Amino acid sequence: MLDINKIRAQFPILNRKVNGKDLVYFDNGATTQKPQSVIDAEATYYANENSNVHRGVHFLSGLATDKFEETRNTVQAFIGAKHNHEIIFTKGTTDSINLVANGFRTLLNKGDEIIISEMEHHSNIVPWQMCCEISGATLKVIPLLDNGSLDMHEFDNLLSKNTKLVSVSHISNALGTVNDIETIIAKAHNFNAKVMIDGAQAASHVALDMQKLDADFYCFSAHKLFGPTGVGVLYGKEEILNVLPPYQGGGEMIKEVSFAKTTYACLPHKFEAGTPNISGVIAFKQAIDFITDLEIAEITKYEEELLKYATAEVLKIEGLKIYGTAAHKSGIISFNIEGLHPYDIGVIVDKMGVAIRTGHHCTQPIMDRFNIPGTARISLSVYNTKQEIDVCVKAIKKAKLMLS
Ligand SMILES: *Cc1c(COP(=O)(O)O)cnc(C)c1O
Repeated sequence: MLDINKIRAQFPILNRKVNGKDLVYFDNGATTQKPQSVIDAEATYYANENSNVHRGVHFLSGLATDKFEETRNTVQAFIGAKHNHEIIFTKGTTDSINLVANGFRTLLNKGDEIIISEMEHHSNIVPWQMCCEISGATLKVIPLLDNGSLDMHEFDNLLSKNTKLVSVSHISNALGTVNDIETIIAKAHNFNAKVMIDGAQAASHVALDMQKLDADFYCFSAHKLFGPTGVGVLYGKEEILNVLPPYQGGGEMIKEVSFAKTTYACLPHKFEAGTPNISGVIAFKQAIDFITDLEIAEITKYEEELLKYATAEVLKIEGLKIYGTAAHKSGIISFNIEGLHPYDIGVIVDKMGVAIRTGHHCTQPIMDRFNIPGTARISLSVYNTKQEIDVCVKAIKKAKLMLS
């Protein structure tokens, strides 16, 4: 059993007031709050350890490099990767997907096909559109069913010997749907297609094991996992990363440079050009340690309980409709109330200290699919409580009263 009060005490921001009310932070799908250990690690680095990594023989450079690489090992263990050089540090999920899409545009030809889905975040759509535009490959889209799950029958129809890559989210940021990625990966592999999983909404909520999952690429952002912004992870299988061309050229990513010929560094440095977000990567270790200390299975269990409670409570509000009602969901509730604009709901609940997100959540094709301009979204994290859900429901009811 998790001690939620003890967990909350580690997050200083949860003590603050917003508009004179206790903050209820339900925008964890956009970014999570940070525990004191993460905040301290950033400050300690700049106060006591600041130096560039992989570049100096002096003491501080060695220290910074060791700590930077320690995070890589921590991520490797956290996601069950076979090798630590299969962990590439990026700026975030968006950057990770662009890295892979940029590489694939030189590997693909006219006639090749990439499959994504209708539920993808814009960052798992646009890079593939750009990749197709340059390579001549064609983009195919798995449609959504009414409950917000993927039409797996259509996925079977789309797969063919032309499929070179499938890129889908693990968990939808707008609907909360948990996709059956094990099946998606196995089906794609039957056609020798590679699979990339956008795990931005999954990594802080469910246990990951890359070797068991067998995904070719998996990516996520540190900031949605209690870590700093500007840090992301790209996991890739060694043999595929070795054939993928580098994304950016510059320092750190080379073996030798001359005007006649430049050779690239080995993994992971081939994909880490330039000075990285050193303080962020070092502090990110504290975020993973925070999760590991709690045990991710306990987090999943607690959040399921919160989701169940919140779903039942919001459904008591007359005229409220939830988008995303798949059997397997994560802690995200996207909703609209008949006759009200989600934006207005967001503004009024904010006056009561409740932070929710409103809009299209960077998933316009989902909004088109359901023929709505946007939704209001509650997204939960391990530090949230049932009392906070009660406060939020009360605030939504008040908004409804004021706006009707
Ligand atoms: C947040 C999110 C992204 C983008 O992550 P960034 O950190 O903004 O790069 C991509 N996919 C999903 C599902 C997300 O929730």
